[in-house]
Parts: sequence; C-alpha cells; structure tokens
Amino acid sequence: MNKYIIGNWKMNKSLSEISPFVKTLKKLGKNQKNMSVCVPSVMLTEISKQAKGLFEVGAQNCHYAKKGAFTGEVSAEMIKETGASLVLIGHSERRHYFDESNEFIAKKVKEAQTVGLKVILCVGETLEEKPKFKSVIKKQVIESLSAINNINNIVIAYEPVWAIGTGKVATTSDIAKAHSYIKEIVKAKFGEDVSVLYGGSVNSKISAEILALSEVDGVLVGGASLDATEFVKIAESRG
Ligand code: PEP
Repeated sequence: MNKYIIGNWKMNKSLSEISPFVKTLKKLGKNQKNMSVCVPSVMLTEISKQAKGLFEVGAQNCHYAKKGAFTGEVSAEMIKETGASLVLIGHSERRHYFDESNEFIAKKVKEAQTVGLKVILCVGETLEEKPKFKSVIKKQVIESLSAINNINNIVIAYEPVWAIGTGKVATTSDIAKAHSYIKEIVKAKFGEDVSVLYGGSVNSKISAEILALSEVDGVLVGGASLDATEFVKIAESRG
C-alpha cells in the first residue's frame, strides 16, 4: 500500500473553496492513492460528496459520547454519517488550547474505533520536553490507547509540537528514532504493528527524504495541504 498522505486544513478555507481544491486533485492527483484531507466539521458532507472515489475525508476532532447534552460537539457517528472515514484525535493544538488530557483522548479513541472511523492519534513533545521525549511520548501513547483492546483502525502521528507550523523539521534520524520507539511501545502493549506518520512543517521540498524512511508510514500535513498543487506534489514525492 502507498504511504499515507493526510492533510489537516485546521480552521481554514470556506465551503466555496472545496470545489477548486477537489478539481485540482482530480486533474493532478487522480493516480495518487491513499490521500486524505481532514477539514472543519461543517465542510465534511460537501467535501465527502465531491471527493468520492478520489480521496478520503476526515474530521479534526470528535466527542466520546454517542449523543447528549454536549453543546457544540460532534459525535463520531455523526462524522461517519457525513461520508468521512477518519478522524484526528489528540492534535497538539487541541491538547494545548482546549486542555485535552490523555484520559479524555482515550475515550474519544475508543468511540471513534467503535463506530469504524480510522483514528489518527497525534502525539509529540514540546521543545522543553525534547530532552525527555521518550517518556513524554510513551505516556501519551499508553494513556491515549488505554481504553481499547486492539489497534484496528488506529494510526499514530508523531508530531513534535515545536515542528508544527514553525518551518522547523525534525531530523531524519530523530524521526526514525521516535517512530521506532512508538512502534515498539505499541507492539509491546498490543502485539501488533502500528503505522506511524510524521507531522511538522512538511512540504514538497522535504517530503521525499522523510517518506523514504522505512520507519515512516506517511505524513500528516498542515499548512502545505491548503494548496492542492503542493499537496499533490507531496503525494508524488512517495516515488
Ligand atoms: C499539523 O497540523 O498537524 C501540522 C503538522 O501542521 P504543519 O504541517 O503546518 O506544521
């Protein structure tokens, strides 16, 4: 299977920008497999319709409950109903701005897995935590996966917080080390191999080098996924 290329639009774009994005992907990226874009939840239905057969669509968050008095939230099942097939959980911006704990994230992972969404669980250390990144990542991975019994439909994105949106990219040797470590942790806990993506200022100039690493199963791309042409170039760099 091709390595994963997953975009994260964060809180960007409008409904009217979906069609030009999809058209460019149709034109330039129709032969590229295993591409997905995670968009604001109000855009999920429209982009799922337009992207059918071309790329997968994901949400950027979900709630852990099936339904109820959680004003402003969206359940995993609601996301699935839009036609989306994946969801980002525990992105560092949500951990930071919305105080999401590993315990809270674990409940979301469980619910998303239960309804059949592919979960992209994000983990990564801050700049201050860099010297002890192993213990930080281990805690995030173990605690965030603590509510599930298997890793069906679970993918982990290693995103050093200091590399997100900063133009600073982890070295290939640091990426390889972190990914091997995450794979080791998951194998020890679940007895299965997990796919691990790298995220943090990826663009088409550096993606080939990162995607060539055997420890890297794909990339999670923020800023550079807003430009469809650039996003396709990243997919093409898988070689
Ligand atoms: C992200 O949003 O997950 C991300 C990696 O962003 P950027 O590529 O802009 O650093």
